[in-house]
Amino acid sequence: MADRDPVQGWIANRMRSIESSGIRKVFELARSIRDPINLSIGQPDFDVPTPIKQAAHRAIDAGHNAYTLTQGLPELRQRLLQQMQRQYPGHADRDLLVTSGTSGALLLALCCTVNPGDEVILFDPYFVMYPHLVTLAGGVSVFVDTYPDFRYDIERVRSALTPRTKAILCNSPANPTGRVASAEELRALAELAAERNLLLISDEIYRLFCHEVAFCSPAQFNENVLVIDGFSKSHGMTGWRLGFAHGPRSLIAEMIKLQQFSFVCAPSMVQHAGVTACDYDMTEQVQAYRRKRDLMLAGLQGRYEVAPGGGAFYLFPRAPRSSASAFVEEAIAQGLLIIPGQVFSKRDTHFRISYAADERTLERGIEMLRKLA
Ligand code: PMP
Repeated sequence: MADRDPVQGWIANRMRSIESSGIRKVFELARSIRDPINLSIGQPDFDVPTPIKQAAHRAIDAGHNAYTLTQGLPELRQRLLQQMQRQYPGHADRDLLVTSGTSGALLLALCCTVNPGDEVILFDPYFVMYPHLVTLAGGVSVFVDTYPDFRYDIERVRSALTPRTKAILCNSPANPTGRVASAEELRALAELAAERNLLLISDEIYRLFCHEVAFCSPAQFNENVLVIDGFSKSHGMTGWRLGFAHGPRSLIAEMIKLQQFSFVCAPSMVQHAGVTACDYDMTEQVQAYRRKRDLMLAGLQGRYEVAPGGGAFYLFPRAPRSSASAFVEEAIAQGLLIIPGQVFSKRDTHFRISYAADERTLERGIEMLRKLA
């Protein structure tokens, strides 16, 4: 009877291609399980550091509860601009805006650049939000497969380009694979973007979590790269909604214009606290994630085919059965919450483990995974 339902007639066509996140389905299942082993969460398990919380309290108490400038609270924007200029001293045309989360920055970036029918290159596996944001902007996602090692293979990218290609969206360290792209891969992408006059968008939200090699941005090789970043993962501030973007001045100006008529600004008290966050040293938390990664990797060794996961807080092992989603169902039935790879991919062969959990949960998870293998 759905076609008789008048409300269905109000729903835009673009919503038909958007399925509710498979991650959410796992969360819903989780609610029915007593004491689950939860390795499904895509956010840090540490709390926001106290001085950052206190800065937010102070901002609220001091009455900083109104709109801020759309491009960002001047103190925070200034701090982020200084960081950016230190990193990219030669980029005279680079400007920055503060956004409502990294997601907000991604949405503004795609809506400001993608025309109907334009193609955006995404790397499979990809962060769940990307294809939907491309759809929202009226574009078409073109997927470049990166299995089995999740490298950015420049020849595969070249062969995916068409006259309609507008942008390439990369993400290192990556969700869901945990892979950190090498400087050579990022340089090749940056050079290809320059050669073909394509926009390269670099989602750097996991930049702090690089376990082996130092973080590298493709913006080091191409001054027109649009960098998307935020405080959600680096400072455990996922619910606070604070991100930023920097890139060519005229593109940032368009994003500021669209933000003015959509998000308006990032939350004021959060931007005040963001100034404190810029000064806060997260080394201890980052090192803890490296130890958790080592623990998890050692636990899976010999039982699962898994890439070392050089960054973020994810591993993306191959499932020991031919259908990864059937394997994940088995795991969930045993109380272990993991995410089937097909949530992030055209393939149903792998699953995502988040090791952003306490040690006891990791140990229980390892025991269960070894049993399931
Ligand atoms: N990009 C990636 C790769 C992510 O994993 C996430 C969060 N899961 C985001 C962007 C969105 O982050 P935010 O909370 O800043 O909107």
